[in-house]
Amino acid sequence: MRFHKVELFFLLLIVLVAIGGLFSWAAFSAATGGLVVGGVETAARFALMSAVLAALSVICGFLLVLPIMSRSLRERGKLQRMTESLSVRSLSLEHAAVTDGLTGMYNRRYFDEALAEYLEAFGQIKKPVGMVILDLDHFKKVNDTHGHDVGDEVLRQVAECLKIFTRYHDVLARLGGEEFAILSPNITESQLYSLSDRIRQAVSELKINNGNVTLKVTVSAGLAVWDGVETGEELYRRADKQLYEAKRQGRNRVCAA
Ligand code: GH3
Ligand code: MG
Ligand code: MG
Repeated sequence: MRFHKVELFFLLLIVLVAIGGLFSWAAFSAATGGLVVGGVETAARFALMSAVLAALSVICGFLLVLPIMSRSLRERGKLQRMTESLSVRSLSLEHAAVTDGLTGMYNRRYFDEALAEYLEAFGQIKKPVGMVILDLDHFKKVNDTHGHDVGDEVLRQVAECLKIFTRYHDVLARLGGEEFAILSPNITESQLYSLSDRIRQAVSELKINNGNVTLKVTVSAGLAVWDGVETGEELYRRADKQLYEAKRQGRNRVCAA
């Protein structure tokens, strides 16, 4: 069995106190003519030994035990602070792993996970789950004409606009590039259509300023409501097909499956 240094010092302290106690008892016994005989002179010697041991105990406590104990307490505090800051860091890393840096929206990874979970959960209570995929129209032209930074600003403003229209339990994500998606549970197809069209209208009314030029953008959207059987991937493909249809019909419109 291995002893820690502080345990050994503490043991030494106990031994010193115990021997000191024995000497005190012997001094008392010699003075009162008990088990230890020898008279006042012997009693004084034992009392002196006892005082020396008491002093040694105090020195041992202050110089050996106390510094180790306070160092260990300080280290424990430091460790606790480090663990706290590490857990804050790991939370923010977790958040970063599912967030899109430009818009602050969820990213594709989060969206795919949420999709699987929503289909599982809402399937059990037989409630519909709707999906909308939105893609900015001719966005490449925005970048080419006004530059990438202005393109980024357009993406941010469209993202803010989308956030205004979504409800608490809707999942809003930037799937990549200029493509966004909404997962909206407990909604009918006509409700989803009207939500998507209001978003389309709001995006078309956005005025994005670039110096003395005011930019206007439009968005196309495709939607589909889960049939209760298909996989998330199949639902996505149906909504995406409708997005393609909206583009084909001339853009700035919503198409439903
Ligand atoms: P369509 O109406 O058919 O969707 O045409 P589009 O020009 O919007 O589509 P296309 O796929 O041809 O171009 C998408 C452009 O989006 C090209 C790319 O440079 C730009 N883009 C993708 N991600 C970002 C980004 O994070 N910031 C900026 N500024 N541009 C981006
Ligand atoms: Mg586009
Ligand atoms: Mg696109």
